[in-house]
Amino acid sequence: MTAKIIDGKAIAQELRGNIAKAAAELAKDHGIVPGLAVVLVGADPASEVYVRSKSKAVTDAGMKSFDHKLPADTSQDDLLALIKQLNEDKNVHGILVQLPLPSQIDSTLVLNSIDPNKDVDGFHPVNAGRLATGQRALVPCTPFGCVILAKKMHSSLSGMNAVVIGRSNIVGKPLAQLLLAENCTVTVAHSKTKDLPGVCREADLLFAAVGRPEMVKGDWIKPGATVIDVGINRVPGEAGKTKLVGDVDYKEALAVAGAVTPVPGGVGPMTIACVILNTLRAACASAGLPEPK
Ligand code: NDP
Repeated sequence: MTAKIIDGKAIAQELRGNIAKAAAELAKDHGIVPGLAVVLVGADPASEVYVRSKSKAVTDAGMKSFDHKLPADTSQDDLLALIKQLNEDKNVHGILVQLPLPSQIDSTLVLNSIDPNKDVDGFHPVNAGRLATGQRALVPCTPFGCVILAKKMHSSLSGMNAVVIGRSNIVGKPLAQLLLAENCTVTVAHSKTKDLPGVCREADLLFAAVGRPEMVKGDWIKPGATVIDVGINRVPGEAGKTKLVGDVDYKEALAVAGAVTPVPGGVGPMTIACVILNTLRAACASAGLPEPK
């Protein structure tokens, strides 16, 4: 058996097209152009690439992008003052502060100062609480993207056994909440889990968000299961170069699973698509409109 390869790039592209259509309707019917402010402190090259691709995704979708590049020695007070200004700006519907922040700045304090209704990363405790209690919430983009991919493979996730490996606040925990909201039976595994391979073998849906290259082997996977690999790990490749691999041994998974995401080209592109989806959702909510379709 060879698993279906879940083409995250194509699914993200389709999603971005739908978001652009919905944004155009929002502008036509309500005169609202969703706006995303991205704040980058310092000049970390990886962060700069990520921020540029987010800004491009935003403008490609017909939304406004407000980029704020601050020097690495920016004080915490200056950053908090900028967030306050963005919280009050009616043209800004989403605020995203690129992590990591320099050491003189308390990241938790900064993230918690963002208006929860503009928190497109979904990291604010108010959004975590709204998600956990089934209220309309801005949810973290990577788990949001994972669930959209799973739903592309199955018309309903209801009653499925879902195993999430990893319990971070940005991936594992919100992913578990989203799957619970889809009526899955959810198990969250972590570094203290006993018999992890056995736990994984029970999964109809297996999500790996660990940060350990190719940890999930073929014999951990239930035949026919859907496997979503969140991991991004850089490892030595051929001819002295490096390459990216996931948390799942992709070759082994292909032989056992029903469907599997590649790395790169699986979850990664969905994360950026969900940033702009959350910006659209925040803009709709700010105007008292229902969730975009
Ligand atoms: P964290 O390091 O915050 O969390 C890792 C989790 O994995 C922890 O809960 C940890 O358990 C668990 N874990 C570690 N080792 C093991 C093990 N041997 N067995 C079982 N569980 C283990 O990572 P993140 O959640 O931030 O990210 C996870 C991965 O996803 C990374 O590779 C990251 O690069 C990638 N990522 C990809 C994104 C994308 O857009 N595709 C976005 C965000 C992250 P414990 O809690 O017990 O320590």
